[in-house]
Amino acid sequence: MDIARLTTDVLILGAGGAGLFAALHAHDADPSLDITIAVKGLLGKCGCTRMVQGGYNVALAPGDSIERHFMDTIEGGKWLPNQDLAWALCSGAVERIRELENELGCFFDRNPDGTVHQKAFAGQTFDRTVHKGDLTGIEIISRLAEQVWKRNIRRLEEHRALDFIVARDGTLAGVVMIDVRSGLPLFVQARCVLLATGGGPTMYRFHTPSGDKSCDGLAMALRAGLPLRDMEMVQFHPTGLLAGAHTRMTGTVLEEGLRGAGGHLQDGSGARFMHRYDPRDERATRDIVSRAIFAEMRAGRTTRNGGVWLSMAHLGPDNVRRQFKGMVERCADCGFDLAAGKVEVVPTAHYMMGGVEFDVDCTTEREGLLVAGEDSGGVHGANRLGGNGVANSTVFGGIAGETMARQLRRPQSQREPDVDVLHASIARAMRPFDLHANGAGAPGQLESLRERLFTTMWDDAGIVRDATGLGRASAALTALKVELDAYRLPHAARDPAFNVTWHDWLNLSSLVDVSQVIVHAALARENSRGAHFRVDFPDAGDLDTSSYTRARQAADGTLTVEAIPVQFTRVRPGQSLV
Ligand SMILES: Cc1cc2nc3c(=O)[nH]c(=O)nc-3n(C[C@H](O)[C@H](O)[C@H](O)COP(=O)(O)OP(=O)(O)OC[C@H]3O[C@@H](n4cnc5c(N)ncnc54)[C@H](O)[C@@H]3O)c2cc1C
Repeated sequence: MDIARLTTDVLILGAGGAGLFAALHAHDADPSLDITIAVKGLLGKCGCTRMVQGGYNVALAPGDSIERHFMDTIEGGKWLPNQDLAWALCSGAVERIRELENELGCFFDRNPDGTVHQKAFAGQTFDRTVHKGDLTGIEIISRLAEQVWKRNIRRLEEHRALDFIVARDGTLAGVVMIDVRSGLPLFVQARCVLLATGGGPTMYRFHTPSGDKSCDGLAMALRAGLPLRDMEMVQFHPTGLLAGAHTRMTGTVLEEGLRGAGGHLQDGSGARFMHRYDPRDERATRDIVSRAIFAEMRAGRTTRNGGVWLSMAHLGPDNVRRQFKGMVERCADCGFDLAAGKVEVVPTAHYMMGGVEFDVDCTTEREGLLVAGEDSGGVHGANRLGGNGVANSTVFGGIAGETMARQLRRPQSQREPDVDVLHASIARAMRPFDLHANGAGAPGQLESLRERLFTTMWDDAGIVRDATGLGRASAALTALKVELDAYRLPHAARDPAFNVTWHDWLNLSSLVDVSQVIVHAALARENSRGAHFRVDFPDAGDLDTSSYTRARQAADGTLTVEAIPVQFTRVRPGQSLV
């Protein structure tokens, strides 16, 4: 097969906050660089940064400080974050928010005195979340995209990265991808590559991230033998909309502010239940509220569709309509009256704290490969504070851009790909076509495989875990992998151009691989911290001897998980910087 080739200095995978900031900073550091952004969707229209509702955490106001933001991040992360990364996040956010406003032209909400308005978010000791109503992400991504369009930066839209390709000596030569529109492979040879495909826990029955996210980047990193840390840490948001199985609106986040403003959670019979789980009632943290709802669901005290009610009417319908316009309209689209009635909700998988291990300058252990945003691990530890996600992607995206420009100041030639590795990657991706052509494999139903993945991860590797369930999940994932590998495309889907069925198969393959890592890391962590709760090991364990999980896949596919001691480089448990 002929494989088209493109050569560039900098290749960026993903066009969220991380990818776009990296492109801008690399270009501004050295405008002579040839920079290419490859993105699975359309630039400016895909990924989760665009979906950010609540806002951006940054210590701006008098009385707040970087130290305070840092301590909230460390304590929220249950002492598992890499403290140097967390410090870079909190200090870098101050610079990045000014850049967003003053250089990129973002408009954020302001107080009457002209200062930037900052709202309260759960788990923080200060009101520090900068926002633009509840559409903060659209403001950020739109302004970023304009700046990228303005510059001489190449865009490969609807290009799906498949694998990192090494040279014969094992160094990184580039990335092979599929042009979704033509279905043809393309090898992009690059001197530096940034992984910024944004994780995304879409292997759970209920989830919030955008449909283009299927953990492809993490699966690529796994196949490349890179270490992934904290993969057991999957954050569930307690109130995802439950609008029935027929609509993708199911799982969509109904923002935390609803509970913060005094919203009530009720079981199927209309009785409030949070007082049985936490003295803060509905204002308890995301993990506690999610577990409480899950317990009600397991006890069968649910609504018609198997969730619980969120009720706001007692706060006055006009008041709710005024305060939560976007949420009220979103619910109305799905037939719910949030202002005067009740809405069915369910916990929903929201964010992966885990990802590729990296350094403060965004380098990884593989020379020439950097990572930023939700694909990276170590910034948030066991839990991410709401508002720290978009700060993470934009702060580290910018740093990655600068690092790549700096690295490329050293003369460095392009590396030739190992053609065997390149062809093996394409053969893996094309397998369902080959099985079709040979009449081999099984036609199967991707929808039923997806349903099994959803059920497995939701029931056995979700909000509440134990060794038996995790063991069951691992076996189910192994069986799913075998069936996926034997999947043959149906006759009607034999054209690779814009072949949604094929991409569904590729998505599922990435998700199953990464799910297996989540399950193994969850089995290895025999305590309960933040987002990870084991009924068979309910204690948090000793904070002073905290360790994080490091998962790595060997060339033969064997997965190992090690416990690595956390280095308390800035503050120890029991101490504080404020
Ligand atoms: C509904 C919702 C609300 C949120 N609200 C907040 C909030 O209020 N505050 C906050 O801090 N965080 C919030 N988050 C989290 C936040 O969106 C993420 O932390 C952050 O935006 C991730 O940025 P990123 O650049 O890493 O990834 P993304 O913005 O998700 O971008 C990933 C990019 O990678 C591309 N991609 C994926 N796979 C491939 C592939 N194989 N090849 C090429 N490209 C690929 C995608 O198309 C996309 O362009 C929210 C998330 C969701 C889902």
